[in-house]
Formats: sequence, C-alpha cells, structure tokens
Amino acid sequence: MTNERDKNLRRRAEDKAAAVAAQDIEVPSLAEAKRLVHELRVHQIELEMQNAELRQTRAALETSRTRYFELYDLAPVGYLTLGEPGLILEANLRAAALLGVPRDALVNQPLHRFVLPEDQDVYYLHRKQLFETGAPQACELRLMRQDGRPFWARLEGTMGQDAESGAPVCRVTMSDITEHKTTEERLRQSEKMEAIGQLAGGVAHDFNNQLAGVLGYADMLVDRLEDENLSRYARNIKMAGTRAADLTRQLLAFARKGKYAIVPVNVHRILGEVAELLRRSIDKQIQVRQHLDADPPMVSGDPSQIQNALLNLGLNARDAMPDGGELVFATRILDFADALPGDDQPTGRCLEISVRDSGVGMGPETKRRLFEPFFTTKGPGRGTGMGLASVYGTVRNHGGAIRVRSELGEGTTMLIYLPLLDQPVPDTPETPAVSAAPCHGRVLVVDDEKLVLDLAVDMLTRLGCEVIACADAVEALETYRRSWREIDLVLLDMVMPKMSGKALFEALRAIHPQVKALLASGYSLNGEAQSILDAGVLAFVQKPFTLTDLSGKVTAALGKNG
Ligand code: ADP
Ligand code: MG
Repeated sequence: MTNERDKNLRRRAEDKAAAVAAQDIEVPSLAEAKRLVHELRVHQIELEMQNAELRQTRAALETSRTRYFELYDLAPVGYLTLGEPGLILEANLRAAALLGVPRDALVNQPLHRFVLPEDQDVYYLHRKQLFETGAPQACELRLMRQDGRPFWARLEGTMGQDAESGAPVCRVTMSDITEHKTTEERLRQSEKMEAIGQLAGGVAHDFNNQLAGVLGYADMLVDRLEDENLSRYARNIKMAGTRAADLTRQLLAFARKGKYAIVPVNVHRILGEVAELLRRSIDKQIQVRQHLDADPPMVSGDPSQIQNALLNLGLNARDAMPDGGELVFATRILDFADALPGDDQPTGRCLEISVRDSGVGMGPETKRRLFEPFFTTKGPGRGTGMGLASVYGTVRNHGGAIRVRSELGEGTTMLIYLPLLDQPVPDTPETPAVSAAPCHGRVLVVDDEKLVLDLAVDMLTRLGCEVIACADAVEALETYRRSWREIDLVLLDMVMPKMSGKALFEALRAIHPQVKALLASGYSLNGEAQSILDAGVLAFVQKPFTLTDLSGKVTAALGKNG
C-alpha cells in the first residue's frame, strides 16, 4: 500500500518537473504561478505528514524490537531452534549464558556437543522421539558449560517449521534445574542413610551385647590370670574386643541413637586439641592451620563425639594429601537459612566448622557414597569406611547438617553446621579417669540378655558387691517389693521385653521413693535414656562396660545419700 502511494507520488512529481521544465523559458502567468505555489505547498505538507508517519512506524518497530529482545533474549529460560541434524540455528541470550558461550559461538554448533558423555543417550532418545512423533517431549540431562562445569538441565522440545524454507525445525526450551536436582538427590540420600542406619543400629545393638560379654570376661581374666602367657592371650582378646567395640560404637553413633552427653562444648578448644594432635602425628609436609572466627564458639552436645568427628575429618584430609599440602580448620557463625538455603533446615544461628584440604579431591561416585558405613576407597587394612558414617551420625545427633565440597584434583572442604549455643558458657572440665576400686553394697541387676546379666553379676561380685540377678523386669519388681530394705542399688537395662527400663524404674520408685538406680544401655544417651535420667536415675552406664566403668559409677551411686 505504501509502495503504491510512493509510486503515485513519484509519478506526480515527475509530471510536475516536466511541466516546469517545459514552462522554463516562458514567464508563467500570475494565475499559473499561484497554482504552482499552491501545489508546492500541498506537496510539502504531504511530505511532512509522510515523515511523521515514518517516524511513528520506526518508533513502533523499535518498541516491538525491544519487546522481542525482552521476551526472547531475556526470558528466564534458554530458547534454541534446532535444525534436522541437531544443529543450533538460533539461540537466545539466556541459552548462551547458561552454556557459558557467546551467542555467535552457539549458532551452527550441534547441541549434543554440550551434553555430558553419560547423558548422550538421553539426549539422542529425546531428539529421536521429537522428530519421529512430532509430539512435545521433555527430558532431564546434564549439560556442560564451556568452562567444563556441568549443570542439570531440563529440555522441552516441540516441532515447528522454518518461516522461510518451511523445513522442519524443533524449538527447545532449556532450564537450569541443578538446585532442584541437588535437593532431590539429598532427600534420596538421607532416606537411604536412614534405612542403612536402622539396619546397622539393630545389628550393632545385638553385636554390642555379645561384645559386652567377650570384653567383660576378658577384662576379668586379665585381672586374675597369673600365668604370663595366658594373661597375654586375655589381653589380646581384650584388645581385639576393644577395637570391635569401637567399630560398633561408631556404627551405633551413625545409627543416630542419640548423644552420650549433653553439655556446653567449646568447639575452639576441641579444634585446638585436634590440630595439635595432627601436627604432632602427621607428615611435616602438611601444614595445619586454623582460622577460628566464631564467637562464642559454643555448641551443646557430647565433646568426645565432636572431637572424634573432627579428628576423623582431619585424618581423611591427611590421607588425601600423600605429597603434603594444607589443612585448614575454620569456624564462623551464620544463620542456618544462609548456610543451607532452600533446605528443610533448623532455624536460628549455627556454628560452621570447615575442614579444608588441598588434597586429591573426590569424584561424583565417591561424593555420593562417602557417608555410607563401610564405604572406603582406601586399600584393605587402611580404611574402615566408618569415619564419615560416624561423623554423619554425630552431626545428625547434634541437630546439625554436613556438606561436602570437592572436585577431583581440587581438594576437599567438609562443612559441619551445628546449632549455636548462644551464651559464652564456661567449659566443663574433663572428668578424671577412675580406676577399678572395690565397693560394698547389695546390688539388684536386671538384664534380659543372659550374657550381659552374668557379666554384670560377675563383675559386681568381683568388685566386692553382693548381687541379686533378675532375668526380667517383672522378676526384678517382685524381688524389690519383697526385699527393698536390703537392696542398696539397682542396675537397670533400658530395653527389656514386658516392661521398659523407665516403667520399671517408676514402679520401683512407687515402692521406695528414694530408690537408687543406674541405667545401662548399648544405645548411647538418647532421648529415652535422658528422660529416665531426668526421672531420677543416678547415672548412665554405657555397654560394653569395663570393670573400671562399673566400679566408678557404682561407687559414686552407693556413696550418694538416698
Ligand atoms: P575411610 O577413611 O576409612 O576410608 P571414611 O568414611 O572416613 O572412611 O571416608 C570414606 C571415603 O571418602 C574415603 O575412603 C575417601 O575415598 C573419601 N574421602 C573422605 N574424606 C576425603 C577427603 N578429605 N579427600 C578425599 N577423599 C575423601
Ligand atoms: Mg576416614
């Protein structure tokens, strides 16, 4: 239409020019001159109007170009147009940004160049189905940025036609779903760990009871055997048993059966000890450093479990640096919400403990499995695979979280987040070790596990106590009802059929409000044990126990005024 008008205009202009040329030599009449001036004026106005129209069209074009730029290029998803062999024909800026390349470098590249080798099949199938069925398709795969960093992407494709050639093209949207995937993966991971924990906890608990027998009797043998050879055998049994008990303890810790103690803990003091220990014992090629910024550096929990966890992280870092390097312990305080964004995290402030090494780092497979009990990449006899499993349990026991940052060849940072104890509380000093001292009194022992019961009876007898043994809670209750006046102390098992340790304790207290009792359990000091302690049981005895453990607790309990 504009073309038509332009031609029209042109024709009239030429006519006029010809007329003017023809009249050139003649002086136009006045009327003629007036007409001419009028014509020129109209023409000028016409031109001005046309100009204005042109400007308007240009402005409209500009607006729609901006809108196109905003819609297409700045969209929150990547857009790609692919030709038949998977070549990128067009891409928006967001797509280029996601892949970390300038847009020009994308055009005429096959998209599969950006797909991780492991996920090529996924991509191939996606494209095949798209071209074959013509129906919209979606897939999730890992793409690789120009700099080599992979990310999870969701592709949604639909078929279309090229506007000019009419050739089939597919239009693909591409979005970064890494965060979503990580959350999903973490959830699956924690469900798996939960299941392994249940299994491991069950096995470890039973195994622990057997160990209590092995270890306890070996302990008494060591104490009694005069023959040097025999006593060495017994010491070896005890040593092996202790190592086994150590493993089961870690397994139980992993199984999240609670804390052994709940006291204010100064994390900096523990880090200081761990760093000192490592400095003394590891290769001088490894620099151990600390950046301790948290103030106050306090959490609530079990100092020995926390120390054990940090030591484990330190030893793993050492193993990752066979040729030396740097090991840095650091702490700071931040909000859980900032530390673990997007997670179902606890609220409030947390203490971050990071253990960073410049070692070999980990590949994705190791990163996926490192918290599993018995997962190790170290040779036989070198790793147990229980280190990080127990660290995991410890951290969870303390209401915290643990994260790993590591790439092969790039070193590793382990990050632990524990709820901050927001007052500068003085540290509780370590309790001094006690040695097996004789004690006197009449003790009622109840345990449904025959071996543990026998052991407790034998040990207490050895310590000089008079012992009444009961194989279950009902029998114990009957005995106590009959002769509570002659019984100085009751040693309770926590988990028993018929009646729990807690119910039994309450029944005993109904008979004699000042009853003195100790609680023994293979589980660590968890919620239930804590509630029995809160109800008035004097102390907690961890199974498997040694003569020393038992004598310390029994002496203290008997000494207390009931
Ligand atoms: P173990 O040390 O007995 O192998 P862990 O549970 O402590 O068991 O660790 C499991 C695995 O995780 C190790 O075998 C190792 O492959 C990997 N790992 C742990 N910490 C690091 C680290 N700092 N650097 C590299 N790999 C590590
Ligand atoms: Mg380890």
